[in-house]
Amino acid sequence: MVVTEIERRTTLTTSSADPHIGQAPSRLATVQDFVNTRDIEQSTDELTSPTGLDRWLAAHGLRPAAPTAHESTRRASGRERGPGSRSDAADLALAVDLRETLRAVLRSHIRPPRGPGRPPEARAGDPGGAAAAARLAEIAAGLPAAITAGADGGVRLVTPSADSRGALTTILLISAEAQTLGTWARLKVCSADDCEWAFYDRSPTRNGCWCSMQICGSRAKSRAYRRRATGRADAVTT
Ligand SMILES: [Zn+2]
Repeated sequence: MVVTEIERRTTLTTSSADPHIGQAPSRLATVQDFVNTRDIEQSTDELTSPTGLDRWLAAHGLRPAAPTAHESTRRASGRERGPGSRSDAADLALAVDLRETLRAVLRSHIRPPRGPGRPPEARAGDPGGAAAAARLAEIAAGLPAAITAGADGGVRLVTPSADSRGALTTILLISAEAQTLGTWARLKVCSADDCEWAFYDRSPTRNGCWCSMQICGSRAKSRAYRRRATGRADAVTT
């Protein structure tokens, strides 16, 4: 059986050692999975082609799996970008831009370290958070969203577009929903520069900063230990 990277990390991060780290609840897990389409540690990326983007969006129920022949004809004629229209290079570039901007925003959700027990690698409130927020605002301004009301009078934000831009809009609408529910700030990316895996912080204190204490947390501790040991050695020899 092939164990995917997501399954491996999920197994590790839901173990008894990390009871408060894991998969985001309900639809927010889609945003988490979107950020994790790029695995920095393993040097893999699911979004390297428009086809790969369409495949991922379809697998996550964000758009139809493939265009019908009729839709393909209309798209080819340049008349319409229908629900099944395939993504192009510009759509892919936008998706990657959104993903990396979201990663930067989630990085800013890491709280400043408190107390002597916190590893020094834990970044103290990401200084790039403001730039990421500004970029996210630019991307959001260019995406199609509309306000609508259902038969029950319930007012909702939706996207009128069924193509990949609509799918990316849905990802942002899920993020907006999470902000209302109070779950958004718990979605973070790991503090390790060579990881940045998106994880959900269920800890009561909301101070989690590693995707896994067993992987990145212990690595950071080892680095800190070596640095302190090297410092002591330097102090002795100088
Ligand atoms: Zn990590």
